[in-house]
Amino acid sequence: MRFRWRRAGGGDSGPTLWRQPPALVGYFLATEIIAAALTIVFALLVQPGGAEWRQFLVLGGLALLQAEASRTIERVRKIHVNMISVWGFAGAVVLPWSLVGVLIMVAEVHLWVRVWRGMGNRPAYRVVFSTAMFMLSAFAGTGVLRAGNGVLSYYGWSGEGGKAMVIALAALTFLVVNSAMVFVAASLHRRPEARLVSRAEYTLEAATLCLGALAGVAAAHSAFYVALVVPPVLVLHREVLVKQFEDLAVIDHKTGLLNVAAWYDRARRQLARAVRDGTSFGVLMIDLDHFKRVNDTFGHLAGDEVLKAIARLLENEIRKHDSAGRFGGEEFAVLVPDSSRPEILAIAERLRSRITELALAVPTDTGPHTVANLSASIGVTIYPAGGTTLEQLLLCADRGVYTAKSNGRNQVVVYPQVQYN
Ligand code: GH3
Ligand code: MG
Ligand code: MG
Repeated sequence: MRFRWRRAGGGDSGPTLWRQPPALVGYFLATEIIAAALTIVFALLVQPGGAEWRQFLVLGGLALLQAEASRTIERVRKIHVNMISVWGFAGAVVLPWSLVGVLIMVAEVHLWVRVWRGMGNRPAYRVVFSTAMFMLSAFAGTGVLRAGNGVLSYYGWSGEGGKAMVIALAALTFLVVNSAMVFVAASLHRRPEARLVSRAEYTLEAATLCLGALAGVAAAHSAFYVALVVPPVLVLHREVLVKQFEDLAVIDHKTGLLNVAAWYDRARRQLARAVRDGTSFGVLMIDLDHFKRVNDTFGHLAGDEVLKAIARLLENEIRKHDSAGRFGGEEFAVLVPDSSRPEILAIAERLRSRITELALAVPTDTGPHTVANLSASIGVTIYPAGGTTLEQLLLCADRGVYTAKSNGRNQVVVYPQVQYN
């Protein structure tokens, strides 16, 4: 699991370490120094034996083999789970501390050289940090495993059930430490809205740790069994693309908002709920004013940046259960469930006002320029006053936009009803 550096439609946070917030740089460096220092101390304290070196070579070799076999997936993967946790956790189960650290380092460096380096969106400093983070997570797992096994032998419990429970606890520790470190990185990051890992990513991470546990147990018995883990790892790695495809099917690529189909889907479900429960909801249609001028003055790329900024603004201003979608071009729709008419109008008015406050530095062929003085015409309609089908509601909201435009733009018009604002 890794820190989600980018979000759909969002800009990157810069290619160099030194452009990051100082607290984040400090956190990265501290993590890396601790991981490296611990590996060196462990190496000095315990010399691995011949059997452990063999297990290291088997796990390392299979990690590289699996990485080579799934390079294409790794290249297109956007979900922040990779298969290093399988091998890292297998190492945590079976190897001495120092070799766990080296195993993770080797696997990450290999992926960086063979896959990520050429992609341009994963600078070396991030790979170094995630390596250190995996190492510390694995060390924590190893620590729990050693302590747990110590407790088992102290009480003379030699059953496999106890050992399995210790491994499960170690995997949980790995997951918790990893998530906590990701959480700290996200909190220190300049973009507070950078989302944390999703449930799907947790599920995948848990699955990778289960496979890692099996690989570790197999490695402890015989190197031959470990190879059996490779095919499921390859299939699981493919699984990360499923979530990606699901996202692609519902998300507008340019802005990261819902696409039309997904927004309609939500709206239909909301309508059914409102009919059933006798509640109300609002539909906002937002059309940017004179957007063509932005394109004409600053170019299409700048126009795209403005669309992304508007999308982020919408996401930040609406509540969690409201849904914002891009209807195409510079038109957006927002679904506002479970709200009264004054609340819906207040949201629309707040969005209108925030859009006028937006000042955005955009790249142009003559250098960066600031786009400001944006505005939007917002049409609002409310169920059931605006209609009892989605089509009627959208027509009403569209009528609102049209009226707002002809009344001079930069205003909210609720339809049907008197003009608002
Ligand atoms: P108004 O709505 O106030 O009447 O004026 P407008 O200029 O916004 O209206 P119109 O709908 O005529 O133009 C919309 C423009 O939005 C036309 C097109 O160049 C631009 N546009 C549509 N989609 C995109 C996009 O994805 N990226 C960029 N950069 N521009 C887009
Ligand atoms: Mg338009
Ligand atoms: Mg427009």
